[in-house]
Formats: sequence, structure tokens, C-alpha cells
Amino acid sequence: MSTVVDELGARLKTYEGRAAAVAGRGKDPVNEPMIRHWCEAMGDTNPAYAGPDAVAPPTMFQAWTMGGLSGHTGRTGAYDELFDLLDEAGCTSVVATDCEQEYLRPLRPGDEVTFDAVIESVSDRKTTKLGTGYFVTTRMDVRVGPDLVGTHRFRILKYAPARQKQKIRSARRPRPVVNRDNAGFWEGVARHQLLIQRCTDCGTLRHPWLPGCNACGGLDWDTVEASGEGTVYSYVVMHHPSFPAFDPPYAVGLIELAEGVRIVSNVVGVPYDKVRIGLPVRLEFQRYDDPQRDDDVDGGPLVLPVFRVREDREGEVG
Ligand code: ZN
Repeated sequence: MSTVVDELGARLKTYEGRAAAVAGRGKDPVNEPMIRHWCEAMGDTNPAYAGPDAVAPPTMFQAWTMGGLSGHTGRTGAYDELFDLLDEAGCTSVVATDCEQEYLRPLRPGDEVTFDAVIESVSDRKTTKLGTGYFVTTRMDVRVGPDLVGTHRFRILKYAPARQKQKIRSARRPRPVVNRDNAGFWEGVARHQLLIQRCTDCGTLRHPWLPGCNACGGLDWDTVEASGEGTVYSYVVMHHPSFPAFDPPYAVGLIELAEGVRIVSNVVGVPYDKVRIGLPVRLEFQRYDDPQRDDDVDGGPLVLPVFRVREDREGEVG
């Protein structure tokens, strides 16, 4: 059995560096109507995206290369072949794991994009909570004329689903996806500090962490440590769907910190049906998952910021 799997891995590796799309063309030039619809859907009112000198929002990058229902031009078939090999080997499930984009210059209405995509890497066989399979990373290089304007790197896990019994045994709290943009937040949490990003250009605080400032577009930032005081701004009570790591019903709160930003977290210290808007809460850090468990594959217990209802004020609201 293991010989078969290794052979598969070796065959998959031969796809590294193969073109997945050659000389693909965007269906439409970069255009104002699509930019306007995107900004309305996202609630993005940044003035840079409107008017005679408008640029396209960088996060729209992939939209200009998408093929729509009719598919896009330039596909080579290599990606489909790779998927067929994985399907035949029982890796029939797929999940997108992450996407990284790099923007080299803004796109403007009238720009006509072309793109090439390459299967950049295929991982060794990996066993994850979902099952066993291979991570496949594809890189798309997007150009306007001869100029590279950005890259889009997209990673999926194609895997054979784990059996239900294994899933339940290893059901721990989902781990945060730590990336370049939010690593500082999770480093703070590990030190039992709740760090809020602050734009050093205009001073606006923001959470969740983002690479840029929504108020002024500034890219430079530092952090301030939250005092830990807050109130329940809103909440929902989760009943379904149930997930083995959680024990519904439970309340998920949107906490407004004293500093003014809001964070999604658990409200602890009262039963789920006693959580109310306006309840004063105070930050604490809670450990989840027993580190002694034999399935501790991804690095120890999980520490999360949660908010405990302040006992001294509990009777005042409600
Ligand atoms: Zn700013």
C-alpha cells in the first residue's frame, strides 16, 4: 500500500513546473461598471476606486482572470490530469486552503489582462484532520501587455476523506489560520495580550488585522494593547450545525472594546441565554484542548481571547 502511495507522489511531482494555462485572456478589460458593482457589494467607498483617475481595488485582482460559466481560454489540461490521478487514487475531496496575491502596479479601466498559470508545487503526502492527500499550489502571473502586474498563488488540498470515527476522535477546536497579515495578533494572544492595529498615518484603530488602513489607505501600523474592558455589542446563539469540538447551544458575541473596535469572541461566565446586548465584559485568555492527547499533531493547546461577564455589573443590565 505505501509503495503505491509513494509512486503516486512521485508521479504527481512530475507536474511541478508544468503550465496549467498559457496566454489566457481576461474576458473583459478592466472596467468601471465591474469596479462599481464590486465596491457596492463590499461596501468599499474608497475614493481611489471612482472618478476619472480610478484604479481597480487590488482585491479584485482575480476577478479579471475568471472564466465564468463558459470557462476561460488558455487551459492546458495539466491541472485536470493531475486531478484525475488524485481522484483515481481515492483523493476525491478538495478544499481550498489559502491564497496569496502580490500586486506590482494598480489596474486601471481599459487595461486588458493576460495570464499564464503554472503548477508551482505538489507537496509530499500529508495527513490532516480532514484526511490524507497532497497540497497543490498553482501560481498565476497576470500581465498587461508585457508588464507583470501581479501574481495570484492558490493552494488546495486534494485528499481522501478521513473516516468519521477518526474525525470524532481528533475533533479539537479549529486552529486559527496564521498568515503574514495577522501573525502579530496571534503572537500577542500567546503572550496574553490583545493587540489592536493602529494606522501610524492617521491613528485609526482596526480589528481584525489587515495589511492596510480602511480610513486612509496607509500601509504602516503599530499596535496598542487593549485594556480588556468591553461590552456586548451584539450576539447570536449557535444551535446548528453542531461540530464535535463545540457544545451547542452557546453564545457568540460581537464585543465592542473600550478602544472602539469590535471583535468576535465567546462570552463566558453566564449561561448562553443570559447574554444580552450592553452587558459589560472583561477580557481573559482561555486554554482549550488538553495537550496530553495522543492526537496532538499541530502544536499544543489553543489559547483564545474570551470575554467574561463582569460580576460587579451583571445585575444592572437585562
Ligand atoms: Zn490610516
